[in-house]
Amino acid sequence: MDLEGKSVLVVGLGLSGIAAARFCAAEGAVVTVNDRKRAQDLAKELARLPGSVQTVLGDHPEELFATADLIVLSPGVPPLPALEAARDAGVEVLGEVELAARQMRSELVAVTGTNGKSTTTAWMGQMLAGLGRPLFVGGNLGVPLMEAVGTDAAGPEGIAVVELSSFQLETCRTLRPKVALVLNLSADHLDRYGSMEDYAAAKARIFAAQTGEDYAVVNGDQPRCMALAEGLASRVLPFSSSRPLEVGASLSGEEILLRLPGKEVMRLSTRKIRLVGRHNLENAMAASLAAALLGAREEQIRSGLEGFAGLPHRMEHVGDHEGVRFFNDSKATNVSAVAGSMSGFPGRYVLVAGGRHKGAPYQPLRGLLEGSARALVLLGEAADLMAADLRGVAPIHRVNTMDEAVTLAAELAQPGDSVVLSPACSSYDMFDNFERRGEAFASAVAGLAGEGS
Ligand code: ADP
Repeated sequence: MDLEGKSVLVVGLGLSGIAAARFCAAEGAVVTVNDRKRAQDLAKELARLPGSVQTVLGDHPEELFATADLIVLSPGVPPLPALEAARDAGVEVLGEVELAARQMRSELVAVTGTNGKSTTTAWMGQMLAGLGRPLFVGGNLGVPLMEAVGTDAAGPEGIAVVELSSFQLETCRTLRPKVALVLNLSADHLDRYGSMEDYAAAKARIFAAQTGEDYAVVNGDQPRCMALAEGLASRVLPFSSSRPLEVGASLSGEEILLRLPGKEVMRLSTRKIRLVGRHNLENAMAASLAAALLGAREEQIRSGLEGFAGLPHRMEHVGDHEGVRFFNDSKATNVSAVAGSMSGFPGRYVLVAGGRHKGAPYQPLRGLLEGSARALVLLGEAADLMAADLRGVAPIHRVNTMDEAVTLAAELAQPGDSVVLSPACSSYDMFDNFERRGEAFASAVAGLAGEGS
């Protein structure tokens, strides 16, 4: 792709937008970045741009979009009239991931799904580390894929393991993963997608450019996922935590069985896995299967499987106070993530939840919470809706701040209980992101100790 002299508009000045702007400028393009935010709120981001890059901030002027040769879209940008007009006028619109993938010669592993993407991506990274090939692990998680361009991991010997959100997949066209994973599909982001079908269609783009030499790894326990895999050009390998499979990954007692076409069965013990919960066994199966497809040997997979300690903000143990354990699961931003975390959770707990509503109802949590949740402490914009959907499952309390939530939850919990922040909502009503929310929870927990007693 020749960008020399082209007029490139980068929309959205997050990590991926900055990476895209830097790359395009280095390739000789005339780059303009555009963001809804104003300069005073973007000081850190603007400081990372080369001097040649122009900025148009505060709104999205239509003529700016219509006159570009290429528009590079950040995943967080909502549908914009100016963008539609530019598309209608024939301007090419790509995401940062697609732009990066076009520059890469390495084998690509792409991971999507409603929940478990980051965990599975990072876990697979540990399994592949032993292969000795240049490795990039990132995407939606941490470092944008663009940062891999120009490194050995983008060369023919390299492997890039990339987490992709449905927003990122929307703007992918030629991205062709050697192994593409769809971990699960449940209601999420219905505030952006009109229906489950539209959401699933965005996820299915991960398979669109695959050929018969590539693999699709899908959740064999979810008919919705299996339906996505119907009629694919690539070879489909399911994973299941509930039944044996002729090909793919399944569970047998305390072992994961990997059955690859034409290969001997690989048996991996689950006993030394450090992450808890059935959902993490599913993530482990998916990651092991993909690693095996990329040529990782049994001992390399085993070492990654057992060595991985999990990511922060996912059921992270952040402290104890007067016999109560505190877990930060701030990344559980939808109902099925909370269900994943809390099903099988030992003992009783006070659940701290709420935040910005994302469109899906909370009733599916009733069965899980009834008899297990000692109390619910709700905060944020969704508190009223949640209280209505969950009335009667446990005593419900409302609070206004994370400090109040933690202080009250600590009072309500009895020795031996846990307090879990697992919000089922996004953080954007009160925090910049889920990390800040998790940090607020952890620091409030640390503050409890300071109160003495
Ligand atoms: P993502 O990157 O897709 O948001 P993460 O690995 O960050 O996924 O995990 C997000 C939340 O989802 C965690 O809080 C965890 O409890 C829950 N979770 C992780 N894996 C799964 C899974 N396979 N199924 C259901 N929930 C899961």
